[in-house]
Amino acid sequence: MASVWEAVVALAAGFATTFKHLFRKPITEQYPEFKRPLPARSRARIVLTRDPDGAERCVACYLCSAVCPVSCISMQSAERQDGRRYADWFRINFARCIYCGLCEEACPTSAIQLTPDFENCRRDILTLVYEKEDLLVDSCGKDTEYNFYKYAGVTTDVGGKGTHAKEETPVDVKSNMP
Ligand code: SF4
Ligand code: SF4
Repeated sequence: MASVWEAVVALAAGFATTFKHLFRKPITEQYPEFKRPLPARSRARIVLTRDPDGAERCVACYLCSAVCPVSCISMQSAERQDGRRYADWFRINFARCIYCGLCEEACPTSAIQLTPDFENCRRDILTLVYEKEDLLVDSCGKDTEYNFYKYAGVTTDVGGKGTHAKEETPVDVKSNMP
């Protein structure tokens, strides 16, 4: 008898919950008329950002390409007259990308960043191959301060050896010799 009563109570509790929701205002959000703002760290379309001085951040180190589990990033490195490296071309195949964010984690210069822009669906799969011109944006993205070359320790237009942040002037090793 006790188990029958417990079943009745459980059923009543279940129906009470259903009944309560019958009179609630629906909270359905109509997409695409309403677009819910996504958190800044959402992982969708990838961009290549710039330093605060406006120069390209990517130094074509290939780390993002190496870490990508589906091998959808490719590039060719080159070097400017002033010693700064850059990607001669840079390509991401979004048809293969799984938006894992590993490329962003691996990037030493904060160049490659995932954005919350998820509306990137196409019928023609070949249009999902993005070149550098499609990826490069005019902003710093999520990291507004960082400039890799201010810490890089290499001589470029940003500074010579020993002049970067937290660096000391290089020692002349010959001066230590007997
Ligand atoms: S998000 Fe993941 S799958 Fe997409 S390019 Fe970056 S590492 Fe590759
Ligand atoms: S985006 Fe970052 S990790 Fe990828 S090649 Fe450029 S600097 Fe290296």
